[in-house]
Amino acid sequence: MLKFDVAVVGGGVAGLTAAIYAARAGKQTILIEKQERLGGRAMTHKKKGAYFNLGGHALYHGDALSTFRELGLQLPGGQPSVDGYGIWKGKLSPLPMGVKSLFTTPLLSWKGKMELGAWLAKLGKLDTQLYDNMSLREWIEGNVQDPMVRNLFYSLLRTASYVVAPDLQAAGPVLQQLKHALKGVLYLDRGWGAMVDELKQKALEQGVQIVTKNKVISVEHHEGKARHVLCGDGMKIEANHIILTTPPAVAHELVPHAEETALHTWKEQAVEVTAACLDVALRRLPEPKQQFVYGLDQTVFLSNQSRAAYLSDDGAQVITLLKYQGKEKDARRDLQELEETLDLVQPGWRNELVEKQYLPNITVCHDFMHVKRQENPGPAVPEIIGLYVAGEWAAHGELLVDAATASAKRAVEHILSLESEERTPNEHRVIV
Ligand SMILES: Cc1cc2nc3c(=O)[nH]c(=O)nc-3n(C[C@H](O)[C@H](O)[C@H](O)COP(=O)(O)OP(=O)(O)OC[C@H]3O[C@@H](n4cnc5c(N)ncnc54)[C@H](O)[C@@H]3O)c2cc1C
Repeated sequence: MLKFDVAVVGGGVAGLTAAIYAARAGKQTILIEKQERLGGRAMTHKKKGAYFNLGGHALYHGDALSTFRELGLQLPGGQPSVDGYGIWKGKLSPLPMGVKSLFTTPLLSWKGKMELGAWLAKLGKLDTQLYDNMSLREWIEGNVQDPMVRNLFYSLLRTASYVVAPDLQAAGPVLQQLKHALKGVLYLDRGWGAMVDELKQKALEQGVQIVTKNKVISVEHHEGKARHVLCGDGMKIEANHIILTTPPAVAHELVPHAEETALHTWKEQAVEVTAACLDVALRRLPEPKQQFVYGLDQTVFLSNQSRAAYLSDDGAQVITLLKYQGKEKDARRDLQELEETLDLVQPGWRNELVEKQYLPNITVCHDFMHVKRQENPGPAVPEIIGLYVAGEWAAHGELLVDAATASAKRAVEHILSLESEERTPNEHRVIV
């Protein structure tokens, strides 16, 4: 039996962040990942010289970026221009994202241009928390008049959050994410895998013990206290604190009698979000001006990430396409829609193809901020002392990877605050 202060289950962004912060606070920390490589959904695969993330990934100006900066990560990469196009009725039109395109776009009437211009000017100052308990559709239909400006908002907010559920999605958090997006996003050189490598390096520097290729099969607790983690190879790790960064359903499965704990509510209320992702590396772009496209009447998105980041060793252009999936998913139809989008934006792309990757149904998040949530998950599982959850689904208002880092830090802060609470009465006694 190994003994640690903190055991972290899962080596994605949440797990790595939690392990680094726990170790930085002086805790003997172990991280256990079931896959051979760390990174989870932030992994990058190199194919024929091109770096493919698991679908299109961009870092927003949110919690993750500030956390990584605080930890001293380099994060080389670049900020892409937002000049782009919208797809409307099968045609490309310039998207009104700047002053010039706002005046020239054929997508909007004069009234629509005035309304969108006013919104772009005031969005930065919007107090988004006012809309936390309202659905996205309620917010858009109640606040935006022009039908095409509404379409633009649906498209921008879908792209910022990956969610196609306007009646369910809470408006406040996604509007906040749009505010982050409008500050510009960061595409990372060599993909998000490079960020994972930097996180791994920081974890090792802090003395985190990292175990890969070992699946946690059970988290034992006794008399209301977490005791140890049991791994597939028989390794048993005793820990005062156990942080689960697995999906909510897996966390539920790992903990005996989870149905009597908040893990049950968190699993039941979770609404999964998926996407179909097509990534292609092209020798050259048939249409070099068309690099960034939002679907307005389709839930698709395209971005040539190579316009801002180093994503290929031989100069190929790495384009990422996404089909945001609502309830309806069909791997073949989604691929066809994505390929048709490429045909429209980069005609003749097949002649330039170096490599492609298609992920028909990948989980973007296991849960998000929606109006039917009973409670925000974690950080502590109230019924079991020493048991915590983190991960992008354990959001308290944040979205995507920002929720992964924020929830990881919340778990560690909770551990530290408990310990300082335990110390205080003793110190008090000594003084008296
Ligand atoms: C297509 C796509 C596009 C995205 N784009 C963006 C974006 O643009 N911006 C953004 O902010 N976010 C984006 N995201 C979301 C982002 O990738 C995730 O929020 C983040 O990587 C989640 O990290 P995590 O640590 O919470 O979960 P994960 O990465 O899923 O990590 C969980 C880890 O736990 C491990 N594990 C599970 N069970 C066990 C077990 N029993 N024992 C041991 N290990 C276990 C898994 O193998 C995994 O490594 C995107 C995601 C996808 C899929």
